[in-house]
Amino acid sequence: MKYDYLIVGAGLYGAVFAQQAKKAGKSVLVIDKRPNIAGNVYTEEVEGINVHKYGAHIFHTNNKKVWDYITKFAEFNRFTNSPVANYKGELYSLPFNMYTFNKMWGVVTPEEAAAKIEEQRKEITGEPKNLEEQAISLVGRDIYEKLIKGYTEKQWGRDCKELPSFIIKRLPVRLTFDNNYFNALYQGIPVGGYTQMVANMLDGIEVRLNTDYFEAKADFDSMAEKVVYTGPIDAYFNFSLGTLEYRSVRFENELLDKPNFQGNAAVNYTDRETPWTRIIEHKWFEFGKDKNGNDLPKTVISREYSSEWKPGDEPYYPVNDEKNGALYAEYKKLAEQEKNIIFGGRLGEYKYYDMDAVIAAALDKAEAEL
Ligand code: FAD
Ligand code: UDP
Repeated sequence: MKYDYLIVGAGLYGAVFAQQAKKAGKSVLVIDKRPNIAGNVYTEEVEGINVHKYGAHIFHTNNKKVWDYITKFAEFNRFTNSPVANYKGELYSLPFNMYTFNKMWGVVTPEEAAAKIEEQRKEITGEPKNLEEQAISLVGRDIYEKLIKGYTEKQWGRDCKELPSFIIKRLPVRLTFDNNYFNALYQGIPVGGYTQMVANMLDGIEVRLNTDYFEAKADFDSMAEKVVYTGPIDAYFNFSLGTLEYRSVRFENELLDKPNFQGNAAVNYTDRETPWTRIIEHKWFEFGKDKNGNDLPKTVISREYSSEWKPGDEPYYPVNDEKNGALYAEYKKLAEQEKNIIFGGRLGEYKYYDMDAVIAAALDKAEAEL
C-alpha cells in the first residue's frame, strides 16, 4: 500500500482531513474529479475580483475551535453579510429585523413590530408542521408572502407546505436594527480567496485533479489503507436503493464595464416570477477593492438559478425532507457495513452543513481516527 489515506474530494471536508492526517505523519493522496481544488468554496480571480464560482460563501461560526483552526490558513476580512430582498422592486432588509418591519408595516418601535407579528401568527395553532406554518409563526403572513414563499419555492422547487420547518429556522428574527444575516461571533471572507486558503491547507500533499474515483475505484482502493469519501453517498453505492434528491444551481456570470451594479454583495429576488433566486456582486465581499486596496473599475455579477438535480449536474443542496431522510438512513446502513471507508461532508453525509460545521465534523473525525 502506497498511502495511508486516499481522500476523494478536495473540498473543505477532504482538505481538513488531509491536512490533519499529514500533520499526524500519515501519507495522503487527494483526488477530485473537478479541474480545481476547494470543492464548492472555489474562487477564481476575474479582473482583480475573487469570483465565488459555485455560489457565494460567507464564513461564519460560533465555534472557537473551528475559527482558530481556519485562521491558520487565511486572514479573514470583516465582511458582514446583509442581503437585500427585492420584491417586485420594493427593497427590504434581511434577515427579518426592525428595518424590515418598519418598511413592511410602518411600525417604529419593537413593541409595535412584536404586536403586528403576534396578530398575524394567530392563524397558526399548535406546533408548526411545515415551512409555511413555521414562517408564519415566526414573522407573520405578510412577510411570508413577500419575502419567503416565492424565494423558497424557487430555491427548493417544492411547495412550502412540503418542506421541513428547520430550513427557515436558520434565519434570525430580531426586534433590533441589526441586519447581520448570521448570529455568529466570527464572520468574514478569506483575504486572497477561498482557493488560496484551501491550497494552504493542502500544502505538501499530493493532489490529482480531473480524477474520478469511480473510473478506477478498485485501483484507487488498492493504493491506500483507508478511503475518505466526500462525494454523494448514493453514487458510492451505484444508486442501488434509488437516487437521493438534490437541488442544483446554475450560475450565469457577467462581467460588467461599470463599478457598481447593485450596491450590495447579495440581492435576493423574493417574488415567484423572476426566474433567478438571487444576484451576487462579488466585489462587495472585499469592499470593492483589489488586493492592493485600489477601487475596481469593473464588476462581476452572478445570477443564481435553482433547479432539480439530474445525473450529470453538480449536486449542491441535499433535500432534507422525510422521503429523502428515510432513503439516506438506508444508505447509511450500507455505509456502516463497508470496511475501511469514512463517509464525510455535505454529500457523503447528505446533510445541509455550513462550512464551519463541515470543518468541525472533519476535525472530530480526524481526532477520533488518527
Ligand atoms: P464539496 O465542497 O462539495 O466537496 C466535495 C468534492 O468531492 C467536490 O470537489 C467534488 O468534485 C468531489 N467529488 C465528488 N465525487 C467525486 C468522485 N467520484 N471522484 C472524485 N471527486 C469527487 N456555507 C457557509 O458556511 N456559508 C455560506 O455562505 C455558504 N453558501 C453556500 C452557497 C451555495 C450555493 C452552496 C451550494 C453551499 C453553500 N455553503 C455555505 C455550504 C458549503 O458549500 C459546504 O458546507 C461545504 O463546501 C461542503 O464541503 P464538502 O467538502 O463537504 O463538499
Ligand atoms: N429564505 C427566504 N427568503 C430569503 C432568504 C432565505 O425565504 O430571502 C429561506 C429559504 O427557504 C432558504 C432558507 O430561508 O432556503 C435558508 O436561507 P439561507 O440563506 O440560509 O440559505 P442558503 O445560504 O443555504 O442558500
